[in-house]
Amino acid sequence: MEAISRRFFLYLSNNKVLDRLAKRWGSRFGADKIIGGENFSQAIPLITQLNQDGFRVTVDHLGEFVNSVEVAREHAQECIQRIRAIGYHQLNTEISVKLTSLGLDISNDLVMEHMELILSAAKESGITVTIDMEDSSRCHAILEIFKTLRRKYENLGTVIQSYLFRSEKDMDDLQQFSPYLRLVKGAYKESGKVAFLDKQMVDENLKHLIKKNLLNGHYTAVASHDDAMIDYTIKLVEEHKIPNDRFEFQMLYGMRNQLQSDLMEKGYTVRIYLPYGEDWYGYFMRRLAERPANVAFALKGIFSK
Ligand SMILES: Cc1cc2nc3c(=O)[nH]c(=O)nc-3n(C[C@H](O)[C@H](O)[C@H](O)COP(=O)(O)OP(=O)(O)OC[C@H]3O[C@@H](n4cnc5c(N)ncnc54)[C@H](O)[C@@H]3O)c2cc1C
Repeated sequence: MEAISRRFFLYLSNNKVLDRLAKRWGSRFGADKIIGGENFSQAIPLITQLNQDGFRVTVDHLGEFVNSVEVAREHAQECIQRIRAIGYHQLNTEISVKLTSLGLDISNDLVMEHMELILSAAKESGITVTIDMEDSSRCHAILEIFKTLRRKYENLGTVIQSYLFRSEKDMDDLQQFSPYLRLVKGAYKESGKVAFLDKQMVDENLKHLIKKNLLNGHYTAVASHDDAMIDYTIKLVEEHKIPNDRFEFQMLYGMRNQLQSDLMEKGYTVRIYLPYGEDWYGYFMRRLAERPANVAFALKGIFSK
């Protein structure tokens, strides 16, 4: 049942008609519980509050799979304005970007031009940028762009997904950069030709990658809401006396709020991934795929308005 509903919501996440309707209906699906507003100005008070409560943040402007040069340029401009606003309001937040929103599917030159602008603005303001990982067909291109840019910019991290067979080798290839890596299970619909379809294997591989990256001495962001992954990490760092400033936990805004606070109160760094923007449909559907229980608050959202 769980596997069927995951496939169903991942299928819906690619539906262009529903995407257009969702934009028109705004946050009627209950999306406002998991996104920080429709523009960055609306997200600023939320980030300020999260910072005051002791959390770090990474903020993501929603949007992906862009096919128009103009839209990709708008996304790049939006990123740069966001970086300036973060500096101006002295927010403790990094930014996350999706390369398909910046022109990855249009041309390599375009996405590189945008990333150079974003990274130099971020460097000036002392802000780290994480390149989110997207579906497996784009993984190689994203990692190649990461490597090229990482030679020039230290304020750059990326993501490794434990469901992909290729991930351990990718992590090994990135060792030379001592990279800031966010380790996740993976959120897209993938085939058994490239990814583990068995959840237990995805979980075991995530533990393996967490252990390898931490024991290699690289800063590690464990991005999961799963108690098993968090408990595993805590046990591992205690056993190997890895100090708290060598890793952090990351969770999505609106997911497992009590666990976020508990970890923070125990002295661990917790970073909240806060998405905002009008293009929330694909993100929202992937979250429903991960946790059908979220359907309850989505339905409540629709019928209570
Ligand atoms: C900060 C962050 C950044 C991410 N960036 C990317 C990225 O760049 N690319 C990408 O492909 N994916 C990304 N992801 C998504 C990730 O790949 C997973 O799809 C997602 O995190 C679900 O996996 P999980 O480890 O959280 O737990 P799951 O495997 O979904 O769930 C395991 C168990 O955890 C518990 N649980 C999970 N969610 C909840 C909840 N909301 N409430 C209560 N219990 C819950 C339940 O007991 C559940 O059975 C990111 C995730 C996070 C947290």
